[in-house]
Amino acid sequence: MNRIELTRNPFIKKALKSRYPQLAVFIVMLVGYIFAILAGLIGTPVGSHNFSIVFVWIAWWAILILVAVPFFGRGWCAVCPIPLPGEWLQRGAVLSPPEKRPKWLNLHVPKMFRNIWLQNISFLLLALFSSVLLTTPNITGIVLAAMLFAAIGLSTIFERRAFCRYLCPVGGFIGLYSQTAPIELRIKDKQVCATCDGKPCYNGSQAGYGCPWDVFPGGITKNTYCGLCMECIRTCPHDNIAINLRPFLADLAKPSTRMDEAFKAFIMLGSAMIYAGVLLGPWGAFKDAAYNVGTNAWFIYVVIFLAIIFVVLPGLFTLGILQTKSPLPLKQRFASLATALIPLGLMFWVAFSLSFVLTNASYIIAALSDPLGLGWNLFGTANLPWQPMLSFILAPAQTLSLVGGLIWSARTAQKAANEIKASSTPVIVFCFLTTLVMLWLLL
Ligand code: SF4
Ligand code: SF4
Ligand code: SF4
Repeated sequence: MNRIELTRNPFIKKALKSRYPQLAVFIVMLVGYIFAILAGLIGTPVGSHNFSIVFVWIAWWAILILVAVPFFGRGWCAVCPIPLPGEWLQRGAVLSPPEKRPKWLNLHVPKMFRNIWLQNISFLLLALFSSVLLTTPNITGIVLAAMLFAAIGLSTIFERRAFCRYLCPVGGFIGLYSQTAPIELRIKDKQVCATCDGKPCYNGSQAGYGCPWDVFPGGITKNTYCGLCMECIRTCPHDNIAINLRPFLADLAKPSTRMDEAFKAFIMLGSAMIYAGVLLGPWGAFKDAAYNVGTNAWFIYVVIFLAIIFVVLPGLFTLGILQTKSPLPLKQRFASLATALIPLGLMFWVAFSLSFVLTNASYIIAALSDPLGLGWNLFGTANLPWQPMLSFILAPAQTLSLVGGLIWSARTAQKAANEIKASSTPVIVFCFLTTLVMLWLLL
């Protein structure tokens, strides 16, 4: 497959090798993140007029799901402020490695947690409480602060970025969908790595830190767990790391074999469908149940939510693949063929988010002038009335996303089925039926 090495460009390479451009972005992001926490805690309780709700759940979400993940994979993780204070504390430095590093516990994360099940659970918890989270500024402020403190706490107990790698609810799905992005970090020459002394990209050196994501760059075959922190570009003494442009979906040519990743694909696919039904559908009772956290109706909503994700969707998928003959055990077939749900799920989220974001985008312009809802009018836009934006493109853009996702997932299903010598037909039928349901829910 064709690759274009972006790091051949001396300007890009210099910018990535230097710590200063990234630090400048980090500081802006960290200031914005702390402001979002404060806005959530001390600003107006009216969600649609509070910076924490409007900028985190509308503006950031739109940028993340419509631009950052599809085009830059883990690009958001490259500038995310959440792990920074913990990482600076762990390293005892903000820039280059210090002479003497602080003596934190530096433990290995226990083997049973070295997967993305905790990320699956943390995402589901946010999803189940999302109606409150998305509308109540102080809950958003508390959750943002909790993530910052959890990342700091884990940095003082475990080595590297344990929070990002094993717990972050956002990092789990960014990693899954980053496999579709047309950008990657890879080594240039395997032979150079094979003879490289000390593997500083993983173990660190005077030039920089060992991979914070606990990944050996020489062994990367997919984007999922590389946080694009650029540290290995700084530490590799042989200039053997490249950032490449590549075709979309390149990582999906080799299907996954992991059940935690397969279930992540079902969790994301199912959540997008449920949100589309509950938040945008005509069923008031479902919406009431989702919003009335703690009531009997909400508990029924939770049971239905989890049943769709863990029983109905995987059950129908399994019934389909049971019809295919393959020399592999069912579990392995399930995990491999679930790779086809990755582009489908991403496009479901794109289609759902278009509705959500275009409907609410006018709040962003108003909140710029009055981010805490205290009656300011900094740029004269505070009183802009709510109005949906670009409504005329919504239905065509959603249809295009869903049909595009179906075509991508069918191609991915064929490749995965070829790899494991099974038929792709049941998976394509499953993707077709779920796409029909999503079209019905959204349009
Ligand atoms: S995994 Fe989560 S906390 Fe870590 S960099 Fe990515 S989004 Fe930020
Ligand atoms: S430091 Fe460079 S050459 Fe050495 S193992 Fe890492 S990527 Fe390969
Ligand atoms: S050090 Fe390299 S391989 Fe590790 S997360 Fe950073 S960019 Fe990815």
